[in-house]
Amino acid sequence: MTDLLTDCFTDQIREINPRLNLDLIEKAYKLSLSAHKDQKRKSGEPYIRHPMAVAIILAEQKLDSVTIAAALLHDVLEDTPITLARLIEDFGEEIAQLVDGVTKIRTFEIKNREERQAETYRKMLLSMAKDIRVIIIKFADRLHNLRTLDALSPERIAAIASETLDIYAPLAHRLGMAKIKWELEDLAFKYLYPEDYKNVVAKVVGSRNEREKLIDSFTIPLRQKVASENITATIIGRPKHFYSIYRKMANATKSFEEIYDLLAIRVITSDLRACYAILGLVHSLWKPIADRFKDYISMPKSNGYQSLHTTVVGDSGNIVEIQIRTWEMNQVAEDGIAAHWLYKEGENSGFSTDDHQLAWLKNLIEWQKDLTDSAEFVEFFKIDLYHAEIFVFTPKGDLISLPKGATVLDFAFAVHTDLGIHCVGAKVDGKIEPLNTLLRSGFTVDILHSNSKTPSIDWLTDVHTPKGRSALRRWFKNTGKRESIDLGKKILRSHFNKLHLASPFSEFVPTLLSSLGINHLERLYELIGNGELPVARVMRYLNEHRKHQSMPSRVVSKIVNSIRPKSPGIIVGDTDNVMVRFANCCNPIPGDPITGFVTRGRGIVVHHADCPNLAYISRDEERLMSVSWDDHHDRQYFVSLEILATDRSGLLHDVTGVFSNFGADVIDGSLTTVRDQVRNIFKLKIQNKNQLKQIIDRLQKIKGIEKVTRTRDAGYGK
Ligand code: MN
Repeated sequence: MTDLLTDCFTDQIREINPRLNLDLIEKAYKLSLSAHKDQKRKSGEPYIRHPMAVAIILAEQKLDSVTIAAALLHDVLEDTPITLARLIEDFGEEIAQLVDGVTKIRTFEIKNREERQAETYRKMLLSMAKDIRVIIIKFADRLHNLRTLDALSPERIAAIASETLDIYAPLAHRLGMAKIKWELEDLAFKYLYPEDYKNVVAKVVGSRNEREKLIDSFTIPLRQKVASENITATIIGRPKHFYSIYRKMANATKSFEEIYDLLAIRVITSDLRACYAILGLVHSLWKPIADRFKDYISMPKSNGYQSLHTTVVGDSGNIVEIQIRTWEMNQVAEDGIAAHWLYKEGENSGFSTDDHQLAWLKNLIEWQKDLTDSAEFVEFFKIDLYHAEIFVFTPKGDLISLPKGATVLDFAFAVHTDLGIHCVGAKVDGKIEPLNTLLRSGFTVDILHSNSKTPSIDWLTDVHTPKGRSALRRWFKNTGKRESIDLGKKILRSHFNKLHLASPFSEFVPTLLSSLGINHLERLYELIGNGELPVARVMRYLNEHRKHQSMPSRVVSKIVNSIRPKSPGIIVGDTDNVMVRFANCCNPIPGDPITGFVTRGRGIVVHHADCPNLAYISRDEERLMSVSWDDHHDRQYFVSLEILATDRSGLLHDVTGVFSNFGADVIDGSLTTVRDQVRNIFKLKIQNKNQLKQIIDRLQKIKGIEKVTRTRDAGYGK
């Protein structure tokens, strides 16, 4: 039974492509058959049918034996006890790595679906960069799954179909694999929007006679003309695929009848010179629409696509697009990056590194490293997949392709990271333009730079490409750290000098660091510099250390306690037993929206959710966590109030009267008077936000007071 099936399968493969290594394929088939033997698909059929079908799709696409063997084994790591080690032993690294590349991330960590999915995409991209056949197998797998979706629940069907439209089809487009892209799109379209699908299909079928007449009205005269010039060419006219018609209708809100480029007439010929000769013949027959001519032969798309496109007006006023290309270009246009493996049995040299598709992939892998947040990664991945391209030139005439919406700054980063970092503006077609100027195809951009210029945080709104964005972030991360360290060093040194200590600072360092739970002096400087660690705390340590040198352990425990309040009134997750302290930059009080920032080794710092520092440090998204107030907690908090008023006698008395009426202690206060305007700042100890609100409400009713605001600088306990 098994052998009969095997024979049947290998016969089928042999029939498709007799040059394949059938021994290898049979060996892979047998292992897959035994590994999946007790499994069934949702439809009830034996599981092995799925890898068989995927292998056949790939054989039909003329892929090599290694890819087909890997396709047969593509689900064994995910769904059966077979290990990677076993695959390496039986089939070698190449096949084992392909199978591993198509295997979903398995994780035991509790993560949500989006995170797992993002990690799976990431892994897929990295495996693709090593061997692009990973994605070719993945496409065939997806194709077969889409053809056999019916047994699944409507939710699963919708999820698989939308993922196909969101990720796999655009990815196929990026890799130049038009045929796969069309098929994926049409299948997903059918499941996702069944009514629209039926509608479009009915219209395409219903208009067949009319369309064929239209096609003939162009192809017949063109064939005659081409033959009379002794040029050999194949001329085909056919409708575009259903999903692209649907999208055109949806985007342009045009009716089916109004979309003139429903069909493409394709002329395929032997060589480059013939392409341009045929273009001339087309234009001698019909009038071209000027701005619709595109020469993708001299200026290929970034996915490698080459062709001449011209749109002409026929004798009866009909408009069609005519595409002219060589057979070689046609294969690249249909199979894209997969064309490298076709008919190349046994000589899979891969491809040269300057391949267009590969350059895109390398770029993507570069920027994805900086996007640690899974939602953000998926968002940028989609942007990178989807965006229409524009083509811009460097002053030397080199072509740079960018997504639509790219700015001067994006261009600078696309040329070189350093050029982006030091960019001050650009000459766009000879005119000086600012960094946020939107670029259009055909512009020549000459970046003006200055080595003393460095990025400002606003630039993040001026870059629209993932590459520019991630380069900027990396720069901010690195220099931000450097600057913090320098600043922290200065702050600490000046404070230390004020103490007039006999012993040098270095003598205090080891115990100071261990008491704070910090490993390196640099880290101490950084924390002081970025405001996470108040220098006052360090000074208190140094002071006490000096006074109580005979009892260091007591001091240490005192310091540690000041950093780790036993119960600060904050709940992290469902526990309150975590090291928590309040950020000195914003001093949140109960009732404020808050967010926790996980420091390395020093517990969680709680910031006001609107704290500007939080926006700055939250570049490290994975270190943010949600925290909440423990309502049953009894603790006191510090706030600063700024009061602007017109001076009068008794004002201060009235103000402090409000504080004592509402039970808030005044810790510190300052007063500046300019003519009859006074500015008071009070630092108060309060219990919660409600108490503070009552105080502010009451203060605002006092005669002469113009404005009461809570300020964010209560820190650095004076
Ligand atoms: Mn599969």
